[in-house]
Amino acid sequence: MGMQRIFEIDPWEVVTHKLDKENKRVQESMTSIGNGYMGMRGFFEESYSGDTLQGLYIGGVWFPDKTRVGWWKNGYPKYFGKAINAVNFIKTNVLINSEPIDLASDSISGFKLQLDMRRSILSREFIVEKGDAKLKVSINRFVSAAQKELFVDAYQFENEGSTPFKLTVNTQIDADVQNEDANYGERFWKVLDKSQSNTKGHVVAITKENQFGTPRFIVGNEMVNKTDLTAEKTDELELAVQNQFSKELVPSDTAYFEKRVVVITSRDYDDQASLIKAMHELAAKIADEKLADLQAAHTHVWAQRWKKSDVEIDGDAAAQQGIRFNLYQLFSTYYGEDDRLNIGPKGFTGEKYGGATYWDTEAFAVPMYLGVTDSTVTRNLLMYRYKQLDGAYVNAKEQGLKGALYPMVTFNGIECHNEWEITFEEIHRNGDIAFAIYNYTRYTGDKSYVLNEGSKVLTEISRFWADRVHYSQRKDQYMIHGVTGPDEYQNNINNNWYTNYLAQWTLKYTLEILDEVSSEQAVQLNVSNEEKKQWKEIINKMYLPEDKKLGIFVQDDGFLDKDLKLVSELPADQLPINQHWSWDKILRSPYIKQGDVLQGIWDFIDEFTPEQKKANFDFYEPLTVHESSLSASIHSILAADLHYEDKAVEMYERTSRLDLDNYNNDTADGLHITSMTGSWLAIVQGFAGMRVRNNQLHFDPFLPKKWEGYRFRINFRGRIIQVAVDHVGTRITLVSGEPLTIDVKGQNVQLDSETVTA
Ligand code: BGC
Repeated sequence: MGMQRIFEIDPWEVVTHKLDKENKRVQESMTSIGNGYMGMRGFFEESYSGDTLQGLYIGGVWFPDKTRVGWWKNGYPKYFGKAINAVNFIKTNVLINSEPIDLASDSISGFKLQLDMRRSILSREFIVEKGDAKLKVSINRFVSAAQKELFVDAYQFENEGSTPFKLTVNTQIDADVQNEDANYGERFWKVLDKSQSNTKGHVVAITKENQFGTPRFIVGNEMVNKTDLTAEKTDELELAVQNQFSKELVPSDTAYFEKRVVVITSRDYDDQASLIKAMHELAAKIADEKLADLQAAHTHVWAQRWKKSDVEIDGDAAAQQGIRFNLYQLFSTYYGEDDRLNIGPKGFTGEKYGGATYWDTEAFAVPMYLGVTDSTVTRNLLMYRYKQLDGAYVNAKEQGLKGALYPMVTFNGIECHNEWEITFEEIHRNGDIAFAIYNYTRYTGDKSYVLNEGSKVLTEISRFWADRVHYSQRKDQYMIHGVTGPDEYQNNINNNWYTNYLAQWTLKYTLEILDEVSSEQAVQLNVSNEEKKQWKEIINKMYLPEDKKLGIFVQDDGFLDKDLKLVSELPADQLPINQHWSWDKILRSPYIKQGDVLQGIWDFIDEFTPEQKKANFDFYEPLTVHESSLSASIHSILAADLHYEDKAVEMYERTSRLDLDNYNNDTADGLHITSMTGSWLAIVQGFAGMRVRNNQLHFDPFLPKKWEGYRFRINFRGRIIQVAVDHVGTRITLVSGEPLTIDVKGQNVQLDSETVTA
């Protein structure tokens, strides 16, 4: 693995003093900001003639791409969903004597790019020279965490030279945008309505029609500009609106310019008229407010978030920055405000995987969000799946199967990824979605979801499993053939232990829940005795491949017949194998992309004996290449569970600064948002050994050798609890909420407002 560190180490900031033109895209990814509703890469407001990836996205606003694989077959998803570039509402050009500045070619000095993670403000500063003119520019931007529709950009200018010049600011809302990966040079937006006056302007645009009948989105963008420059008359543009301001700036003279934009979408309004009305009303409201107040409301929300869930690490500044960056970017992507939105693997930071929902959410994000914030946030992630049940029925039906098959990749519940070995076969996600319901209920103690919406989701998933399994007469057992497990380096395999285990577990859990639901709900669910009997039969006779001699669960039927050479025996120049080997060679190899059996052991970590965990870890980890960034965290947790502390730390380090150090050499495309959960999970479930057993919190912490100490806060059933670990020991404090009894290293400890040392 390579490493590329282009930002300075700082506990609360992502900061650089260099405009790194070679790595501009990495800089942009790393300085992404968002508020769950919308977000953007750190691309510049002004035109930049060098390499750049414009990326500005609105949650849930997407387009179906008509790309079809060559050998299209029945049941394949009809389109490929993608997050599209929103209308560019941050566009602002700065001109000196009527010539636009361009940081790719102009002479610049004093450059500073700084993302303040505590307050979520992105700042940029530079001095630009054109001829004799010397202009200092400072820019602060944020997307408000207090008012989701609000974007604010504030400029300060100063003539730092000795000659006067004309300073012009031209600001726009521009619907002429494209995605980089669009296959047909598509422009997704059609302008419905626009208008501009001296200091204001708006563009209302609709996504173009599509042949799949998926919804079109209307987005209204209105800007209100404030400045001490003088407004100029401007021309009408075809796909954009503009305001322009200027002033003769004498030496030492200063000026300011402020752009406030509200972005309203048809996701929240019934029709165009009400959307436009709301846009104007909100724009008028925020026009009257002071910049300082808008900013304070925003930073207050962030302060509250950090208070609930900051993680502090002593003695390792790089690790400190890593965990804060990961939490910061996750919170920017999702903070649970809207149960129709989810967590894309790249969030608002890139096009690839952009904005779509994957199993990453249930498998990796739910376990973290449960700890870092109130239960409502995770509950909304569960509601998201409930609301998409109709799509899941469609997916199952397309395969000729009963019940609900949740999608591997989706925006609306319908599968929108078109590789068959993923969408047909990686059906384990159905089990992961069921497991998340259990995980939520176990952690929060709140049964209201599982007994209502959750029981419906579980029932329909169980109906799918009951139809997807088949009976092997020869073995008198139920099997699941033709699947791909989490390890995507083995495709179309039979009896993936993880999938079979999850299917069996889902059926068991659903039966348990059916015993608890109200009689009205039972009527609604309408599970017949016949069905229950069939489920019990499958549970009793589910085939779970196991090798008694090795003491392991077998990843799939053919796995042990592979040439089981360890990763350590591979020449280093062959790694990563996905960049050096043909797909054919990868599929025949024993190398595991990401934990598969071990993913299951992590999910059900308390269900297996230490011997079982050890045997499986010792067998599978040395065959694992961790070529999905999701892989490392679960291995860190399992290693910690087995007291392989060095391994736990090594695996943690692979997640902590993945993007900050561009380990996979792909941060240019966007950040690995969902795998960012991994560093938190590794610290809390791994190093501190947090578990919830029988309604009780357990900890069994150790301190990584390199660290002096670490502290984190978790939210547990209405309380905030701080766990501090250092050379002296573990101190657990009840920061707020009712007293409770927890377990620390096997001892019951009563937590009240006093600090407790264990
Ligand atoms: C992983 C999947 C994951 C996807 C999106 C892939 O590389 O193998 O498990 O869902 O990335 O993060």
